[in-house]
Amino acid sequence: MRNILIVISGPSGVGKGTLVDLLLQEDQSLVKSVSCTTRAPREGEKDGVNYYFISRQEFRARIAENDFLEYDEHFGNFYGTPRSFVERRLRTHSVILEIDVVGALNAKRLMSKETVLIMVTPPSSEELEVRLAARGSESDEERAARLRRVRYELEQAPLYDYVVVNDDLQRTKNEILQIIRNEKEKTI
Ligand code: 5GP
Repeated sequence: MRNILIVISGPSGVGKGTLVDLLLQEDQSLVKSVSCTTRAPREGEKDGVNYYFISRQEFRARIAENDFLEYDEHFGNFYGTPRSFVERRLRTHSVILEIDVVGALNAKRLMSKETVLIMVTPPSSEELEVRLAARGSESDEERAARLRRVRYELEQAPLYDYVVVNDDLQRTKNEILQIIRNEKEKTI
């Protein structure tokens, strides 16, 4: 079986983080790449677990050193995938990236053979609005910006290899695990 780069995207609040945690618990052949960001940690987020929280100055220095496989700016903050971690871990594991649409397409372009793009969508936009409000970590303005972004991201779904509706966490997790197993068995 080959090791693959699994990119999981989907709008803010769709449950990507929870799904990724469940995938990692269930399948020991998977590891998650922790991205770097210049955004401030949310309540409960830990450095090195959810993200590496770094300054804009450090982020710029790391861009200059070509340290990121891909990076992008969202809502005024930078987010990037550490290149060395991904390249090293791919030798022994399949690597999950939880990144946005632009980053996903960049990763696919750079590592097209081993990259599988999976988009997680909400059962409905209303549902997502309720989930984002429940999280309560953003201001009204930030939440509105994120909801506008939702529409854009969902429009990109046809560019993905798979689109999975997160209607039930366990069911969705099993669907993604099956996709990963099938992809790992492919010989390319
Ligand atoms: P949040 O602030 O909600 O954690 O993330 C905002 C957006 O940044 C999400 O769409 C998330 O998928 C994306 N993101 C997180 N890490 C990365 C990364 O390393 N690269 C890119 N391109 N996007 C990322």
